[in-house]
Amino acid sequence: MSVFNRMLVAGLPLVPKVIVGRVASRYVAGESLDDAIRTVRELNKQGAMATMDVLGEEVSERGKATAAVEEYLRVFEGIDREKIDSNVSIKLTLLGLKIDEGFCRDNVGRIAETARRYGNFVRIDMEDHTTTDATLRIYHELQERHGNLGVVFQAYMRRTLSDVDGLPARGASVRLCKGIYVEPRRIAWKGYDTVRANYVQALEKLIVHGVYVGIATHDEYLACAAAALIDKHGLKRDQYEFQMLLGVDEELRRILIEAGHRLRVYVPYGRDWYPYSIRRLRENPEVARHVLRATLSGK
Ligand SMILES: Cc1cc2nc3c(=O)[nH]c(=O)nc-3n(C[C@H](O)[C@H](O)[C@H](O)COP(=O)(O)OP(=O)(O)OC[C@H]3O[C@@H](n4cnc5c(N)ncnc54)[C@H](O)[C@@H]3O)c2cc1C
Repeated sequence: MSVFNRMLVAGLPLVPKVIVGRVASRYVAGESLDDAIRTVRELNKQGAMATMDVLGEEVSERGKATAAVEEYLRVFEGIDREKIDSNVSIKLTLLGLKIDEGFCRDNVGRIAETARRYGNFVRIDMEDHTTTDATLRIYHELQERHGNLGVVFQAYMRRTLSDVDGLPARGASVRLCKGIYVEPRRIAWKGYDTVRANYVQALEKLIVHGVYVGIATHDEYLACAAAALIDKHGLKRDQYEFQMLLGVDEELRRILIEAGHRLRVYVPYGRDWYPYSIRRLRENPEVARHVLRATLSGK
């Protein structure tokens, strides 16, 4: 990232929330479940599946975690009622991981049990490295019990290739992404090409291990490498999927769907949109540039 872009990104927390909200609205479906359902319906019409995410993280009050669980139960009811094609993604720090691991596990258990009743599926997002071990513990325990959970591996983590070995021989589902948190170099690869190389290695290892992979990327290089691996290993259409974020590179989304791949879009919604939006803007200085312009022009 250039020095200018670094400065731009560093200045984001100073930008008024209302302006961040306006520019970041492309990444978030809205504040309510109805907003998210409308977005998913539109995506389904375009041939994409979805995963709905209730925004929020790092809660320190049990009441907030419990409210998030209740919201997820409403999400399953909404998906079923509206007959839309979506599963859900959850963040463990929204569900109380930083309060107490057992409390969090019980919350995830309630969500997974409800998902099972609706014939649905729960993806556990991966957050920063302080949560990785606990996330994998909860995933393994609840997947064994309910059988309808998946987890996320981050290609920038040095541990990722060996984490593949810890997966069960059958039935695992992993979303593979580069990773978005700022991690220390001792545990995470830092070079852009290094992370790409580790992504491709991890993807092939997951495929060979028989894992259902959600190939989560907007990096055309990786989409191309993934298509080659899908071909090399003779994967059928229902043995993997591509995944992309709402509001990012819709052209690549269309290209992958038209090429015959299944693709799922991550649809976040909720009132706690600010930290999520700031992370998305940090990732893309081009958009941060619009934020700066809007701030300076007062529009
Ligand atoms: C479905 C999905 C789920 C994810 N879940 C997690 C998770 O659980 N944990 C986690 O740590 N990370 C998660 N991520 C984020 C991921 O780790 C990366 O930070 C993110 O996807 C950017 O990496 P990339 O592979 O797209 O490559 P990049 O090289 O970052 O991006 C490739 C190109 O995509 C475009 N692009 C990327 N980001 C943006 C953006 N915000 N706005 C506009 N254009 C953009 C740009 O044109 C860029 O050149 C998820 C990503 C996806 C797609």
